[in-house]
Amino acid sequence: MSHPHTRLLRKTALVTGSTSGIGLGIATALAAAGHDLVLNGFGEAAAIEQLRGELAQLHGVKVRYSGADLSDPAATQAMMDEAIGACGAIDILVNNAGIQYVAPVDEFPVEKWDAIIAINLSAAFHTTRLALPGMKERGWGRVLNIASAHALVASPFKSAYVAAKHGIAGFTKTVALEVATQGITANALCPGYVWTPLVEKQVPDTAKARGLTERQVIDDVLLHAQPTKQFVTIEQVAAYAAFLCSDAAASITGAVMPIDGGWTAQ
Ligand code: NAD
Repeated sequence: MSHPHTRLLRKTALVTGSTSGIGLGIATALAAAGHDLVLNGFGEAAAIEQLRGELAQLHGVKVRYSGADLSDPAATQAMMDEAIGACGAIDILVNNAGIQYVAPVDEFPVEKWDAIIAINLSAAFHTTRLALPGMKERGWGRVLNIASAHALVASPFKSAYVAAKHGIAGFTKTVALEVATQGITANALCPGYVWTPLVEKQVPDTAKARGLTERQVIDDVLLHAQPTKQFVTIEQVAAYAAFLCSDAAASITGAVMPIDGGWTAQ
């Protein structure tokens, strides 16, 4: 099958947590833009292999996969070493993998706090520190951190998540300043509520923490935050992400950008 993308234009994008939800949407948009991919995340091996094959065939790009558990810095380093060894460099790094846990702070399980900080914050430090040397060598790079509206504002019962997401906003700005003259941008996208397994799973716990029904959680807590009264879609986040990873976005750096249906305008 002939394909319009030449090797010169083609870059390698590593998207963490791309077996599901927003990460899968972003990986798909970057493959459609002609970039080779490294997928990461958990899931059933056969389903991931099928996804890998479909993305490669549909978009004429190379698609690799790493099942690294990003709560483990050594596994994260092994994923990065292997990907950089195979592709020469990671040109586009999207730190998207994330988990959520909802409980009052004085009841918050210590191991959940540690896991959320490790996956939602520290993993982005490890992938970024390991990807930057290759980006600097090529004089081009994109670091895109999928933060959250919770990088800008808080909600009760999400202490670890809000702390990690505010942390990633500060990390993003710092990286942006350090590499600003080297053709590398670092930005954070801050989605409001997007209907994915991560959100679906927190509905029962939020109902419990707030003494509401699950329907009330969706209408009165989640969509209450968003003036549009609609979930943000995966495709909308993916299109914004793909733009930020393009040459046209070269002057956007150190930015922490909401895509939240007006949530943080309030
Ligand atoms: P999701 O649960 O659909 O996907 C999460 C992905 O991360 C999966 O691929 C999963 O396998 C992977 N993952 C989880 N733990 C991992 C680990 N230890 N190592 C490697 N991979 C791991 O969630 P989503 O809603 O698509 O969330 C993606 C990102 O977007 C997260 O950082 C989340 O905080 C952020 N976000 C989501 C929303 C939303 O409303 N869904 C809003 C704002 C921000």
